[in-house]
Amino acid sequence: MAPVFRFAPSPTGHLHLGHALSALSVWRAAQAAGGRVLLRIEDIDRSRCRPDFAAAIEEDLAWLGLEWDGEVRRQSEHFDDYADALARLEARGLIYPSRLTRSDISEAVTRVEEAEGRPWPRDPDGAARQPIPGARESESETRSAMRLDMAAALAELGGERLSWREEGEGPAGETGLVEAAPEHWGDVVLARKEAPTSYHLAVVVDDALQGVTHVVRGQDMFYATAVHRLLQRLLGLPVPAYRHHRLVSDEDGRKLAKSRGSPSLRSLRVSGWSPDDVIAAVDQLLTPHVLKSSP
Ligand code: GLU
Repeated sequence: MAPVFRFAPSPTGHLHLGHALSALSVWRAAQAAGGRVLLRIEDIDRSRCRPDFAAAIEEDLAWLGLEWDGEVRRQSEHFDDYADALARLEARGLIYPSRLTRSDISEAVTRVEEAEGRPWPRDPDGAARQPIPGARESESETRSAMRLDMAAALAELGGERLSWREEGEGPAGETGLVEAAPEHWGDVVLARKEAPTSYHLAVVVDDALQGVTHVVRGQDMFYATAVHRLLQRLLGLPVPAYRHHRLVSDEDGRKLAKSRGSPSLRSLRVSGWSPDDVIAAVDQLLTPHVLKSSP
């Protein structure tokens, strides 16, 4: 069967050169493997995602000459699929409700750190790791976020170590068979108050439902792959191969993002750039002296 790749942007803004690099990495890898590319719009966060940005993404990709196969999958139209997966984890006692926000957690953690005089463990993104005192609720009248009970999940594995095949590389040069360390993430959020899923759950459910065999994406997702491997194992889902590409940095070494004023593809187009100019700019970014690993 032909390999299946996907490009999975979140429509929270217009695509810029960093996205063009990501998209070209996906399409080039698919072409080299004789595979096809699916387009998935990751729009579960309704407060940040906008339909006009989603439409603009399709238009920008078409302008670049990048064609996807079949219908676009919009995550906001598939909440039932994520709710089903969540219910399967809930039936095994692997998730629990928690209403704590990120700032509640950092306050609680600061209190513990001050009282105990030791730093609280952080996840690979630098956020305080669950479980923390008071995170778990027994019953709640209002809908809470749902968190994975990491200790219970690891207990189900009974000491089995998980790994994935990395065809690109991680921030520290990890490649080949990479051992997953989901325990570093603590009790990750699997469903939000306003949606029956989080990024982690939706991404593994969709990659499986869409038959994705190769995930090509930015290195900022490298360590989160450990969480995805764990969820695939818990839900009995197939495991794709992964290829994480390096991120485009600006002169200060920060990830290129629209919020920091990097030009969108459409503004480049308006100022006279052709699709070939964008592709040439991406190739320029891919030359080692410009491209830096994420910090
Ligand atoms: N929606 C994610 C993003 O735009 C993609 C993550 C992934 O490819 O798994 O960063």
